[in-house]
Amino acid sequence: MSVLKITDVSKNFAGNTVAVDKFSLDVADGELVCLLGPSGSGKSTLLRMVGGFERPTAGQITIDGDDITHLPPERRPTGMVFQSHALWTHMNVFKNLAFGLKLRGLPKDEIKQKVDAVLELVGLSGYGTRGVNQLSGGQQQRVALARSLVLEPKILLLDEPFASLDQHLRERLREEVRDIQQRLKITTLFVTHGQDEALAMADRIVVMRDGRTEQIDRPDVVYREPQTPFVAGFIGTMNLIEGQVANGRFTHAGFGLDIPIPDGPATVAIRPEVLDLTASDDGVAVVHRVTDYGTHGLVDLDLSDGTRLKSMVAHPDLFSAGQKVDLQPKAIAAYRNNARVYRS
Ligand code: ADP
Repeated sequence: MSVLKITDVSKNFAGNTVAVDKFSLDVADGELVCLLGPSGSGKSTLLRMVGGFERPTAGQITIDGDDITHLPPERRPTGMVFQSHALWTHMNVFKNLAFGLKLRGLPKDEIKQKVDAVLELVGLSGYGTRGVNQLSGGQQQRVALARSLVLEPKILLLDEPFASLDQHLRERLREEVRDIQQRLKITTLFVTHGQDEALAMADRIVVMRDGRTEQIDRPDVVYREPQTPFVAGFIGTMNLIEGQVANGRFTHAGFGLDIPIPDGPATVAIRPEVLDLTASDDGVAVVHRVTDYGTHGLVDLDLSDGTRLKSMVAHPDLFSAGQKVDLQPKAIAAYRNNARVYRS
């Protein structure tokens, strides 16, 4: 059942910037949906409209059927965690978490019970008396999450919450947040421009571009079956080759493939892990660089017009710069007019 329903929501900023363009999305109870897209694609604006920090120019947002489109943040059943956590540095951790509950007029013992429970949930039991400034960046972000969760929102909104943390901590925190989210079964919208984060955390990913949805699907589907060249190029590493199809044969700079689609332009997408190489004196590509990652190798190659491709190989020592190779893709997709028209 859908809890959050966003229907034809748009946001135009002064100067005619269309940040969000007739965007619609249903989020099911307990689901974690990631809004993923490049900088400027409208993710934050959309999230802020759900949280009540930005007014939609048009459209409707409902939570459990109630129209909240024009309610202020404090009257919505949403909790937002911002990129910079904005904790109150003059209060200790306990007071930061108790503040919202006090405003709601809860009795002291109930406040203590709720704060202690949420501190345990985020792995900070016993940290109540600590000053916020005495915490590490990761701990501060856990407190920010706890401060939202303690108010028991129906919907949790996370705006790049790990952006300021280092890679290692980011990976740990995203696992923790996913665990907590699944334990609480809390419906969550999560904004990120990091595809790894989205692939690791989301039940579904919305790939956004220019304020619109490019694709909504489960992470594995977005990765394996991108519907547009934009999604293909944005999620994971992808070789995109623009060429022409004539008589069922796609060609570009000496590279050719049989693709049974009508004549015309096409973009072919091939993942590095399914682009096999064989050394050949009259090969269509030249090895530019070989990188050995221990578990596998990555070969950068150039077609005759300089188009750079990547191939993942099991034995990088078989290849070296300057060598000519032939390409055997094991799986391809072809796109035309921003839609997928063929896959093998
Ligand atoms: P993202 O979160 O995907 O990086 P944003 O939602 O922040 O994208 O921005 C979408 C577009 O709206 C961008 O072109 C941005 O410059 C513009 N924008 C965002 N906030 C404002 C604002 N307060 N005033 C004017 N333009 C804005």
